[in-house]
Amino acid sequence: HCGMIAIVGRPNVGKSTILNEIVGQKVSITSRKAQTTRHRIMGIHTEGDYQAVYVDTPGLHIEEKRAINRLMNRAAASSISDVELIIFVVEGTHWTADDDMVLHKVKQTGRPVLLVINKVDQVKEKEELFPHLQWLGEQADFVAILPVSATQAKNIDLIKDQVRKYL
Ligand code: GDP
Ligand code: MG
Repeated sequence: HCGMIAIVGRPNVGKSTILNEIVGQKVSITSRKAQTTRHRIMGIHTEGDYQAVYVDTPGLHIEEKRAINRLMNRAAASSISDVELIIFVVEGTHWTADDDMVLHKVKQTGRPVLLVINKVDQVKEKEELFPHLQWLGEQADFVAILPVSATQAKNIDLIKDQVRKYL
């Protein structure tokens, strides 16, 4: 069981921190510079018969005001349409126009999408998260919605369990 998993989300939501937690000590390769033609390899996680190649998609977070940017975005969107699973990372407390943009591109691919709500340690009252959570769940047909905290290593195993299903 081997496949590519894209981790997407606007800057600063915690993609790198989550990946470091997933890959942990079992890392085979990590390189910020490693490139495939359409993806940047972020890390490889091997566990038993399962191997997941985590990729970043350069160009996914570009503003669409100019025609050339729209073209680059289309190329980025088509490159994440060949992964097994997309992990869409958002923050537990903030939703921005950039999140909207990423969500839109993710939905265009038609691939299965796992929604990861990171930084739940910053959510003081459960009531702060729940209305947001319900609204988020209505935005797309996510395979699952996982609240996690990458810095506290909370629920990272649940991400791995979901990934295994798509390899
Ligand atoms: P990326 O740009 O999406 O790759 O985000 P990073 O992984 O670089 O994280 C951005 C910032 O958010 C860093 O300062 C992280 O330490 C912080 N961060 C990441 N995950 C969490 C989390 O679960 N809780 C909190 N409180 N901070 C986090
Ligand atoms: Mg990063």
